[in-house]
Amino acid sequence: MHELRPFVGLSPGEFHQRLGHRRVLIWGGNGACSEVVAALQGVYGLTSGDVLAVAAAGLQRFSGFSVQHPDAYLSAQPVQPGSHMVIVSSVGYRKEIVRRLEDAGFAKGRDYLFNHDLFRQRIQVRVVDDPIHSAPSLNIPRLTAFLAKNSHALRGATLEITGFPDPFSHAGVEDLIINANATFPITLTSHLPNLQLLKMAERHAVRLRLLVFPSVARLRHHFPVVAKWDDEEYFAAIGQLLRAVPENCPIELVKVAFPDKHPADAMFSVRHNIIYSADRAYPVDFAHLLSAMEHGDTRLLAKQQALCDFDLREALSNAKAQQHKPCMCERVYPVLNADASWAVCHLHFQGILCEESDLSDYSQIQEERRFNAYCKACQRQGLHRFDVNLLG
Ligand code: SF4
Repeated sequence: MHELRPFVGLSPGEFHQRLGHRRVLIWGGNGACSEVVAALQGVYGLTSGDVLAVAAAGLQRFSGFSVQHPDAYLSAQPVQPGSHMVIVSSVGYRKEIVRRLEDAGFAKGRDYLFNHDLFRQRIQVRVVDDPIHSAPSLNIPRLTAFLAKNSHALRGATLEITGFPDPFSHAGVEDLIINANATFPITLTSHLPNLQLLKMAERHAVRLRLLVFPSVARLRHHFPVVAKWDDEEYFAAIGQLLRAVPENCPIELVKVAFPDKHPADAMFSVRHNIIYSADRAYPVDFAHLLSAMEHGDTRLLAKQQALCDFDLREALSNAKAQQHKPCMCERVYPVLNADASWAVCHLHFQGILCEESDLSDYSQIQEERRFNAYCKACQRQGLHRFDVNLLG
């Protein structure tokens, strides 16, 4: 089967050649948009003056940029192809956005790009309370040594520290932040509103990303710690955390698996340091999806479909048609477990620890992963092209 090829986006030279003297307009005020801003500034060397505005419905400001409604943007003069470059970063409505841009004469690659055309790499350190696949606490010396040794190869990447239920529940996470903070921008991703985690993010000026679920019942199964909460208490805790967020502390709230109206909508008021984004409803464990596809298990596929807000069969068949293309997950790599062993992929939670778990050199890891058996099965089904951000 295929060798795992990297999918890393445009080089700075190529990007600047296409951009010329134009400024950039970002379409879509969500989490991907914040990563676009980080890539434009961190990798491509643009300043905030190079970004014209953000086009998004329902926001007034985003990361300090002014926001226009897309309708106002497209009807404004002298907005036309050639006046600037659009980066489409919206999670949904992508086909609609592309149609509107093309109707207005914008050409793909020349006048507009997608967020995934830009280079952004995320290193993930995940601390999972899983008795089989994770160590009980962070191995700070090994993680720190890995990051220090490979800092050159990983330059430009963001370090995401994530965990279940939240990274704070693991001893030593603050040491990891302190050790890595000088080299990498850091994001802490949490499933629980945790005031201590917010204080930690504030102390070290790192970004906090809080996943917000439509109901506490969705969390109970995985996180017994919330077993005693009802929805009112859960949303009250989120509200309390938001009120405590200081102006200088960036935080991203991700509405997970949102129905049309999310219970947390009422608390999503506009503040420039709070970034709102929404995850589509999709199967979170790709291992089940892969197993269903490999074995043609229609019952398991139907169960996965029930978790989605789109036609899963159609999406999988579109992905399979792109089987020969590079893996989208190359951008989130390497994925390190608490004990500094590494996992093949951030999308597959179970059973994919690399056998060669003590690799400490990034190039060795890449080499090991190129022909990894699990990746081959995934590519056989085209699952490596199944990117929920690109489904809309
Ligand atoms: S398991 Fe699939 S999606 Fe993950 S890295 Fe391997 S090929 Fe890519």
